[in-house]
Amino acid sequence: MESVQKKITDLKTLLRHYQYQYYVINKSDIPDSEYDDLMDNLRKLETENPNLRTQDSPSQCVGGLSLNSAFKKVHHKIPMLSLNTVIDKRSYLAFNQRLTKRLNISTDITLCCELKIDGLAVSLLYINGGLARASTRGDGVIGEDITDNIRTISVIPKYLIGDKIPEYLEVRGEVFMSHAGFKKINHRAYRDGHKIFSNPRNAAAGSLRNLDPFVTAKRPLSFVCYGLGCCKGRAMPQSHWACLQHFQDWGLPISDFLRLCYSPEDVFAFYEHVKMHRQSLGFDIDGVVVKVDDLKLQTRLGSSARAPKWAVAFKFPAQEKITRLHNVEFQVGRTGVITPVAKLAPVRILGVLVSRATLHNLHEIDRLGLKIGDYVVVRRAGDVIPQIISVIKSDCGVDLSLKSIIVPKQCPGCGSKIHCISGETVLRCTGGLTCSAQRKSAIRHFVSRQALNIHGIGQTVINQLVDKGYIQNPADLFTLTLDQLTSLERIGPKSAQNIIDALVRSKKTTFARFIYALGISKIGLVTAENLASYFVTLDALLRADLHTLRSVHGIGQEAGSCLRSFLNEVSNREIIRVLVVEVGIYWEPVIPKYR
Ligand code: NAD
Repeated sequence: MESVQKKITDLKTLLRHYQYQYYVINKSDIPDSEYDDLMDNLRKLETENPNLRTQDSPSQCVGGLSLNSAFKKVHHKIPMLSLNTVIDKRSYLAFNQRLTKRLNISTDITLCCELKIDGLAVSLLYINGGLARASTRGDGVIGEDITDNIRTISVIPKYLIGDKIPEYLEVRGEVFMSHAGFKKINHRAYRDGHKIFSNPRNAAAGSLRNLDPFVTAKRPLSFVCYGLGCCKGRAMPQSHWACLQHFQDWGLPISDFLRLCYSPEDVFAFYEHVKMHRQSLGFDIDGVVVKVDDLKLQTRLGSSARAPKWAVAFKFPAQEKITRLHNVEFQVGRTGVITPVAKLAPVRILGVLVSRATLHNLHEIDRLGLKIGDYVVVRRAGDVIPQIISVIKSDCGVDLSLKSIIVPKQCPGCGSKIHCISGETVLRCTGGLTCSAQRKSAIRHFVSRQALNIHGIGQTVINQLVDKGYIQNPADLFTLTLDQLTSLERIGPKSAQNIIDALVRSKKTTFARFIYALGISKIGLVTAENLASYFVTLDALLRADLHTLRSVHGIGQEAGSCLRSFLNEVSNREIIRVLVVEVGIYWEPVIPKYR
């Protein structure tokens, strides 16, 4: 029993530490999923040992108000609670069953499903239609008065509009920051040497709880309204959904993703729908919230000290995990840009084993304060390349086992000097076509799916072909013989013939794919499509001057210059000639879309 007691005490201490960091300092030392696991462990131990459960346990409280907060305190007439969580269909069905049992009804209950936006809960009080006070959730009972800061958020109305506005209306919602806004303020903060936020939620919380409203005003904060606190002077509809529609009529923003569901299957369909669109929302959500729609039923169900019994957060699987940084490699791209790539202890995220993450440039290493041996938080979101979000710094001072990341002075591919551009954050190899790493990347790009889509030629094959001197550029691929291919490791006669067949098939392509396949800096597939439909023929493109190139949609000064200098280069024009005239790459005539 003593050891269980100690485990509980240790977990409480740890969770309180993370709560303080998260709710007061607006900082996450660990991913939310790790925090949730610790909380689950505590809850399990407390359930098995109810005599060890105390009122002040983190499992029983709504997390966090700093006692010495400089903001005025606000007492919430109706507590602002947290939400209970379910993580799969089975636990959702158990919640659903509890609902029908508690209400003693056998039919399905109408539920309102919403996004669970990852931001900060706020309460807005409107008296006679004017914004009178705004506060944070705090510990659920006492929050902080952040009225001056809330007034700086443009989407929050200072005055409600429309008819039949109640004398006294308290609504609740989430303040959050979009991905674009987050990127912008962190970029600015880095430039000015200020604090960098580790995620949009912390940035939103830090901005909202800033003591200077002028600082808040500069932060791109957004808001959606998701619930009624209390209302006097006017009868509100007895449906949560209908209340939200009223809020919208009065000028309060509500989410576009709302659905009334009439069965668990409806809820699962909404959950899957949101999960599918999650990456394109432009802001972070960590699940959906399912609420009993009928307010009378909500009252009958009631709440515990921590969360309502009429709602649940149906969370998505974690996108972030902790792992260790083993090394940083510097990879040479086709245009000579050298990108640092993190080599990680493999970790499974959303079913995929992640062992590498992009670090973009030196700025990113600097921003993260990254060292080899660090424990890092890695995020994998949809198809996006995994990224290191933050570094977990130990509280025990300097860790001597960590090693600094040494930035190479010479190109790891060819040994040429490295040039630093763009305020010393982007590294570029000066080797040009003599750099075998650049050549390998250019060929890899040429055969890739969106370019000429040549099957069977992966990085290992390309490395061997370049290292053996069989090919120097993409055009040489079409001169490969069966003998050369079978001399490569793990390529038998059948695979070699498949590669030759794939090369022959690839000769029929589109003009846009051909332009894209050339691997010109700043020319992605969409820009290549614009170029193809503007110029229609290769000759017209080759002849175009910078001014004409810039008239194409998506071609700015930088892309135009990259394109023009690529096309001016004699060796590039020769490769283009060989590909079209000697190899015989061709495409259907292009139908001009616009000019
Ligand atoms: P919660 O965030 O899981 O759920 C409650 C909150 O959801 C509400 O207060 C509200 O702000 C928000 N919400 C968003 N959309 C909503 C909607 N449509 N309707 C109602 N509410 C909506 O609970 P919590 O108590 O605020 O925080 C606990 C969570 O915070 C943990 O599960 C963990 O993920 C995270 N946390 C992380 C750390 C860390 O160190 N990483 C520390 C503390 C808490």
